[in-house]
Amino acid sequence: MLIGIDLGTTNSLVACFRNGKAEIIPNRLGEALTPSVVSVDSKGTVYVGRSAKERAMLYPLESASVFKRSMGTDREYDLGGRKLRAEELSSLVLRSLKEDAQVYLGEPVTDAIISVPAYFNDLQRKATKRAGELAGLNVVRIVNEPTAAAIAYGMAERNDSRYLVFDLGGGTFDVSILELYKPIMEVHAIAGDNFIGGEDFTDVLYDLFLESAGIAPETLDLKTRSILRKNAESCKCAFSHSNEIMLCCPVQGKLHALRLTLEEYERACAPLLERLRKPIERSLKDAGVSLQQIDQVVLVGGATRSPVVRKFVAKLFGRIPSFGVNPDEAVAIGAALQCGMKVRDKEIQEVVLTDVCPFTLGTEVMVDNGAFEEPGHYLPIIERNTVIPVSRTETVYTAHENQTRITVKILQGESRMSQNNLLLGELSVPVPPGPKGKEAVDITYTYDVNSLLEVEVYVHSSKLRRKILIQGNKSPLSQEEAQKRMEALQHLKQNPREEEPNRLVLLRGERMYEEATGEKRRVIDRAMMEFDRALKKQDRSEIQRARETLTKFLDEMQYGS
Ligand code: ADP
Ligand code: MG
Repeated sequence: MLIGIDLGTTNSLVACFRNGKAEIIPNRLGEALTPSVVSVDSKGTVYVGRSAKERAMLYPLESASVFKRSMGTDREYDLGGRKLRAEELSSLVLRSLKEDAQVYLGEPVTDAIISVPAYFNDLQRKATKRAGELAGLNVVRIVNEPTAAAIAYGMAERNDSRYLVFDLGGGTFDVSILELYKPIMEVHAIAGDNFIGGEDFTDVLYDLFLESAGIAPETLDLKTRSILRKNAESCKCAFSHSNEIMLCCPVQGKLHALRLTLEEYERACAPLLERLRKPIERSLKDAGVSLQQIDQVVLVGGATRSPVVRKFVAKLFGRIPSFGVNPDEAVAIGAALQCGMKVRDKEIQEVVLTDVCPFTLGTEVMVDNGAFEEPGHYLPIIERNTVIPVSRTETVYTAHENQTRITVKILQGESRMSQNNLLLGELSVPVPPGPKGKEAVDITYTYDVNSLLEVEVYVHSSKLRRKILIQGNKSPLSQEEAQKRMEALQHLKQNPREEEPNRLVLLRGERMYEEATGEKRRVIDRAMMEFDRALKKQDRSEIQRARETLTKFLDEMQYGS
């Protein structure tokens, strides 16, 4: 069975195409969204999703979140002494989603289509693919999130139209311009910023709070930080239905509070909103269309629920954006629709996708500046927003007398000087020595439908051919090291599915106990003991009743009745 996965920075979803339609698959808690948070306890039990989010508050040193931002890098996260890379943490999220899908569908899941931000570079895409493989999934396709979202909209639409997808998630911002003229969905331009998202809108509240309380940020301990972040996030979301919020947090035994109106918040968000403008302008320019030529502005991502963001978009485009599909689910639904197309389900009209590559790919050359050959210049081979799949060849020549090798730097980026672009890899070939400029080498870049890059170098004189598929890691691990890491990962055991609801409520109770003081603590303690008693009796229906009682009790304490 094939599933579609939206592997988000903040939240992940899994969906499938069944009985003629795309369907979101609920996780073990019966929810659509699984927070992309991983926590590992000292015994090596892995928690994913909401229970991991609760654990992260109690045990921040054993937990990791927002790791999608480090995909394709060498960064290691330390979870209680276990060192895990972003793709490994992601594989644990994927493993959990896969398991949920298998239980829901009642059959083994083997293949997946996984979405990534359109702006993800080659290293990040390959790391995502590897994450899937580590979770035991054959990743048949990597799709761009905005393309998936546009498909979710486009399939329901009768008329052909031009879309601008505005996707503001937890940590990334993507803008895409697409056009649907059935049965073709064409991507015209992609732009984005990998370092802005809903979390930055939470930070605004976090910073305002500390400023108004006169507390230096570096004096906060880890736990206070995570409590303040959590409270700031709730307040941020509360702006969706309220014009004023009160952000409270105990700091060093003293309760501080900040009262803020939506208007004040909006003013504080102005620099962030300004940053959203740039990718929009660039995508319009690259697509060669004006704001007026956009038929629909599609809002995707949890952060577009914010009234501040909605107002900004409405003002910028002079119209009300579309909310037809749930902004949290659009990408997963689109990925599931692509599953339907992939297996050629008769219920679904095939949409022929033409996608583009988000970055320019090129190499480094020397350029004659009039006086001498200046090194370090960028030679673009595949320009950004070229329709993929694509294959382009450039010929380069030896630059020195009796040169014996040509080293091809594989670069990604837009800068004139190669050192400012991202080095994806290198490929070196021997050439027969001779006069400068005599030996010629063809460099062929091939970008496939999954936006995975393959480079081939061909030496004219010797007919030598060398090929590499750019690997997901900047410094690839040795085979031995990779094997060792894989085994370590296999040893981590997922918290059993059926225990998840109990585990979650226990962790939540513990967290609330830590945050509370005095009488409140005593009541929480009593409620928790009651639940413990029910657990010991091992009677399923009694446990369920007790869990519901405790959940209701905690809800009332946290949100008021
Ligand atoms: P990602 O695609 O990065 O996983 P999501 O699309 O799930 O992210 O969006 C998560 C972000 O949306 C978080 O920063 C969250 O705080 C934010 N968010 C969710 N609901 C709201 C809301 N009502 N108002 C403002 N922001 C929200
Ligand atoms: Mg998303």
